[in-house]
Amino acid sequence: LHPTIASRAVTQHILKAFGLHASKKLGQNFLIDAGIVRGIVEAAEVQPGDRVLEIGPGIGTLTQGLAEAGADVRAVELDKKLPAVLAETLKGYDNVRIIPGDILKTDIRAVMGEGPFKVAANLPYYITTPILLSLLEQHLPITHLVTMVQKEVAERMIAKPGSKAYGALSVAVQYYTEPAIVLDVPPRSFIPAPEVDSCVIACRVRETPAVAVREEKLFFRVVRAAFGQRRKTLANALKGGGFPKEQVRDAMERADIDPLRRGETLSLAEFAALADAFADLGA
Ligand code: SAM
Repeated sequence: LHPTIASRAVTQHILKAFGLHASKKLGQNFLIDAGIVRGIVEAAEVQPGDRVLEIGPGIGTLTQGLAEAGADVRAVELDKKLPAVLAETLKGYDNVRIIPGDILKTDIRAVMGEGPFKVAANLPYYITTPILLSLLEQHLPITHLVTMVQKEVAERMIAKPGSKAYGALSVAVQYYTEPAIVLDVPPRSFIPAPEVDSCVIACRVRETPAVAVREEKLFFRVVRAAFGQRRKTLANALKGGGFPKEQVRDAMERADIDPLRRGETLSLAEFAALADAFADLGA
């Protein structure tokens, strides 16, 4: 009934028929590999009736895969030209709703309604991190978060303490989820081909965060400060991040963390202990 959009020929045909030019500014790289679409749908364990939020449906490539799997898809797209295109490319699927707008300004609870849902997306790379952090920090009832990201971002998401890629994004993603790289995706899987390699990363959202913290906001303030100045010792980075000198000294002592260590060596449990020590001290 519907041709599979995820192919070079069909995608080129759609772009030409609608006079579309991929917008670099909006991070538009259209997927043309049906195997990758299948991989994303499988990693999200999409079952008929599952509610799925898609970010940036583009011309409907992944949307079609989700719809074929029987998901109830709500797709938020910023490019004003695309809803009219999607109305054609996804004609006949009654389980897809396109919501025009910027995902960072969308009231996701209002779009998704009550109850758990999944997120699947081939993300625009210019705002990957803000989108991921915003989805996680809102404590939405997301069970699976499966996205295409730049390979370098995927590596940061799964990085362990002490590695070069370990940073505030690693801590945030691993605090809320269990991330795993499920597919390596070369530039030729897209039109136009991006300059970087990509990965599909699947994050299973934890029922409770990986570590217990007394104040989540304070925990992330400590994490941001610790990674704010990577070449400094943890004590100096925390001071640079606005924590008073005496408080830094006392908190590190309480949490039993050597002030000469660097932020990028701390595990989630150590960051939690440190944040709780700051909380004890009234930070
Ligand atoms: N899903 C399609 C695919 O797999 O071929 C398109 C993916 S393309 C990498 C990213 C999509 O996100 C584009 O359609 C772009 O217009 C859209 N986009 C960019 N910024 C956005 C934002 N802030 N909110 C919602 N969508 C956005």
